[in-house]
Amino acid sequence: MSRIAFIGLGNMGLPMAVNLAKAGHELHVFDTVAAAVESARTEGMMAAASAADAVADVEIIVTMLPNGPIVLKVFEDIVPAAQKGAVIIDCSTIDVASAKKAHAMSEAAGLLPLDAPVSGGIAGAAAGTLTFMAGGSKEAFAKAEPVLSVMGGKLVHCGGGGAGQSAKICNNMLLAVSMIGACESFALAEKLGLSAQAAYDVISTSSGFCWSVNKYCPVPGIGPESPADNDYKPGFAAELMLKDLGLSQQAAGETGQATPMGEHAMHLYETFLKEGGAGKDFSGIIEYLKTAARG
Ligand code: NAD
Repeated sequence: MSRIAFIGLGNMGLPMAVNLAKAGHELHVFDTVAAAVESARTEGMMAAASAADAVADVEIIVTMLPNGPIVLKVFEDIVPAAQKGAVIIDCSTIDVASAKKAHAMSEAAGLLPLDAPVSGGIAGAAAGTLTFMAGGSKEAFAKAEPVLSVMGGKLVHCGGGGAGQSAKICNNMLLAVSMIGACESFALAEKLGLSAQAAYDVISTSSGFCWSVNKYCPVPGIGPESPADNDYKPGFAAELMLKDLGLSQQAAGETGQATPMGEHAMHLYETFLKEGGAGKDFSGIIEYLKTAARG
């Protein structure tokens, strides 16, 4: 069993830390919100006075924080306080450039860094079935594997520093584009007088099939159960999709790669959020598209 520091006990971090504690690891935790630390303490974890205190005597450090600037700020505190050789795993979804800076800072201090963002959401965090996409050295990945496998069902080593974040934003950019495409098809089918069931029966077994149609259909009552059947309660919130689209556009800008569909998807999610989409699942964009002016 390992001594593990866990920093960032929010919607995702707390259930992930709970799973590590339940598996018998010794957890030293910190969050800037006292109530979050208290919830962890009631689950048998040790509350630290600061992030630096939490990491001082552990072999593994996990961070689960809102964004790149916060991750880098926390790393500035914890990297000098950590033991040489400790594995430092950032599971937050952040921009690739910040992830690479976090790697450089950690390696310079003799730590073994991994960027390991997740997919699977709050339900996956609670069930311990997250997918981890990791970037970093083989050594860091091998040492992190036993800990990540407690929190996740699937681990993919994507390459060197930043490769996990790169994989995550490329996947989610495609997901946004395919979801918008699925929503447009169902909206047009309706205007043409086609039933949603007929559209689904054809598309899901023809060349238009994709995860957004077959597994997460944006129309209620069609296909396997999805947020559409629950008034578009997330699921995967539109706000989080917009965050990931912003990160992919940042990466596209930094690399000079044209991503016109990803850019347009980002603008559509911005508009959806302004026009009633706040707090809804990302598939709820079908409601906006059905009423949007053509032009
Ligand atoms: P959250 O806002 O619920 O949790 C973030 C936690 O970090 C909060 O408890 C906050 O108090 C804490 N925090 C902020 N600044 C801190 C600091 N300086 N030191 C210590 N703690 C600090 O967010 P979340 O939903 O748990 O998401 C965390 C990360 O996981 C994000 O990067 C998000 O994009 C990603 N993610 C979320 C989901 C999801 O469904 N919620 C899915 C996949 C990935």
